[in-house]
Amino acid sequence: MNVVISVDMEGVCGVSSWVQVSPPEFGGLVSGSEYERARIQMTREANAAALGAFAAGATGVLIADSHDTMRNLIPELLDERVRYVSGHDRPLSMVQGVQEADVAALLLVGYHARAGTQRAPLAHTWNGFVRDVRIGGLPAGEPYLNALLAGHYGVPTVFVSGDDIAVKQVQDDIGAEVVGVAVKEGLSMFSAVHLHPAEACRQIQAGAEAAVHGAANVKPFSVPFPAQVQLSFDHQARADQAARVPGVTRVDAVTVGYASPDAFHLFQMFRMLCKVAEVRLNG
Ligand SMILES: [Zn+2]
Repeated sequence: MNVVISVDMEGVCGVSSWVQVSPPEFGGLVSGSEYERARIQMTREANAAALGAFAAGATGVLIADSHDTMRNLIPELLDERVRYVSGHDRPLSMVQGVQEADVAALLLVGYHARAGTQRAPLAHTWNGFVRDVRIGGLPAGEPYLNALLAGHYGVPTVFVSGDDIAVKQVQDDIGAEVVGVAVKEGLSMFSAVHLHPAEACRQIQAGAEAAVHGAANVKPFSVPFPAQVQLSFDHQARADQAARVPGVTRVDAVTVGYASPDAFHLFQMFRMLCKVAEVRLNG
């Protein structure tokens, strides 16, 4: 049995600032040692999930480094039985690997709440300028989009770790059967009460083991298709660009809409529209 572990960084224990999740090479936020420490915990949490999966009988574990540059994990700190995906611009982005043969489960580690969520540390969806994503009228964040894409390949999402609010969103929106581990309690966009990092790893390992154990009983996540998607940006100039893509309609000043026949189309259209909406706002 194979499993895929998608690891983001904003939901990792100890993290509650953009500085901690910004690789120094990008220069905008010079984070240095804070980033270096956060990536160690990110790696430990990914590894904890892998250990839990192996304990539950997984024979193949693929870890997808899924934050920013997607080159954050420190491979030599990982269990030697795992394979890992590194680097950005991947066909399936944060859940690269779910298309492989015999994948029985997707685990989400270090995840965060969707854009605009009150009290949720570093809440966002995909980038800094997506305000809202609606699928069939229901709000969708990164866990939702990734669970949907995994579901397209018949893979159920069985585990999530992150802040308490992100975990609750996943269980409310994707399913109560998703095993959740809250490694911190959100206080605001930039603060949280954290577990000890070692305790966070213990809980992730135990949760992942239980989740993989029960994976056969969890249905792959899906929504009714064709699905209507609405994507709202922080500025009308972004919607101006996105609305020019054939098949995309303008809903209001900052919102565009499209219809998708399946989750693969939905996900790739979402990525493409985010890309074309990367426009200069200073004229
Ligand atoms: Zn991230």
